[in-house]
Amino acid sequence: MSVELEAIIGLEVHAQMNTKTKMFCGCDNDAFGKEPNTTVCPICMGHPGTLPVPNAEAVAKAVKASLAIGCTVNAASHFDRKHYFYPDLPAGYQISQYDFPLASKGEVTYELGGEEKVCRITRLHMENDAGKLSHRGSLTLCDYNRAGTPLMEIVTEPDLRNADEAVAFAEALRRILIAVGASDADMFKGMMRFDASISLREKGTQKLNPRSEIKNLNSFKALERALIYEENRLRELWNEQKGPPKGDITVGWMDDEGRTRLLRDKESATDYRYFPEPDIPPLQFKKEEIEAIRKTLPKMPAQLKADYRALGLTDAEAAMLTDQTALRKRFDAVHAVTKDGKKASSLVLTQLMGFLKEAGKDVAQGPSTAHLVDLASAIASGQISGNAAKDVLEKMVTTGKAPKDIIAAEGMQQISDTGAIEKLVDEAIAANPKAIESYKAGKAAALGAIVGFVMKQSKGQANPKIVNDILLRKIGS
Ligand SMILES: [Zn+2]
Repeated sequence: MSVELEAIIGLEVHAQMNTKTKMFCGCDNDAFGKEPNTTVCPICMGHPGTLPVPNAEAVAKAVKASLAIGCTVNAASHFDRKHYFYPDLPAGYQISQYDFPLASKGEVTYELGGEEKVCRITRLHMENDAGKLSHRGSLTLCDYNRAGTPLMEIVTEPDLRNADEAVAFAEALRRILIAVGASDADMFKGMMRFDASISLREKGTQKLNPRSEIKNLNSFKALERALIYEENRLRELWNEQKGPPKGDITVGWMDDEGRTRLLRDKESATDYRYFPEPDIPPLQFKKEEIEAIRKTLPKMPAQLKADYRALGLTDAEAAMLTDQTALRKRFDAVHAVTKDGKKASSLVLTQLMGFLKEAGKDVAQGPSTAHLVDLASAIASGQISGNAAKDVLEKMVTTGKAPKDIIAAEGMQQISDTGAIEKLVDEAIAANPKAIESYKAGKAAALGAIVGFVMKQSKGQANPKIVNDILLRKIGS
């Protein structure tokens, strides 16, 4: 009889912080697309005799992120040197936090298949990123622009049970880090990376067996594929040797080959020779300081999503707004005018997004928030009809012009002048005696033909509500 096994998964998440300068020096922290080795200085190049100074903005943002994932920010924490020798690390050690991290013991609630789940957080600590190596044949090129970028390392408890849970948790964490403004977490730019550890045990037991640590997962897809691969490998191994592996191993994920490869086993585990960083004083926080930062936390993604659902938006629409700040800003401003979630979502999420897609533009390249608010106001005040608004919006997307200019240039103003409409209605009545007869004989639908006639004569610009009112008054309902 075979035993039932379950996977025990924990993650280490590295998120680059979106500070102006690097973790311990004044170098530009935005290295993306820059010429190699141009945003460096003697401090982030690890030259002897230089003095690292912690970046106050990075510390404040890491505190915010810690609070957002429910962690306790420790009253005292300090930096340590973590030694390893590899060409991407110019100083020969990374400045990290070992036994006294910035924050401990939190939890993140995430959603999977409509169910709420919780993953506990062990700790959050700060450290600096290493440089980037590119291997070209027998050459290795070193770019140290990234060396010294502030990182948050977030370590979870082994609370995840499969690849789907790991991905759903990581996505929820990413949303939180973006929401508090601590990281841009752009996966394409490698701003968020994962190491995952996985082991198997017999269901119902509590023992933690030797595990595989999978290094360098740079996308949600890689995280998912690597965990599925490694779980299957461990299950096959269990069946062969009737039990778990003998010791921990570290493996690397080979994305192209779709498999993991052994990097080192327990015997060759690295000794980082941690010791307290002598050049940086310990970090200390007063309770009041932490509480003051807590008050600046924005609405968390889960709450945002629930609020949008309450406006009558679908799950997909609410998720879209939660994830896309620029879109959310536009929706919120339009909603403030329409005071109606469905109307705002029709204008912003259906029409605007549709026209942007057709034009191959993203939200930032489309109409500004102010222009969208002007358009929503023109609809709300009856200046233009809903149908005309659609045309205006399309032109706003393609030309970038203000709605008032488009409305004026195209003569799209809705006719709400009762005198003008009355004249059109009289003409319609005179031209459609048969419809009037059927209406008077009790066919209410006949009225539509007359309204349609007026709309056609006015090129769609007559206010349909006023047309209806005047018509009813004239033919005596
Ligand atoms: Zn520097």
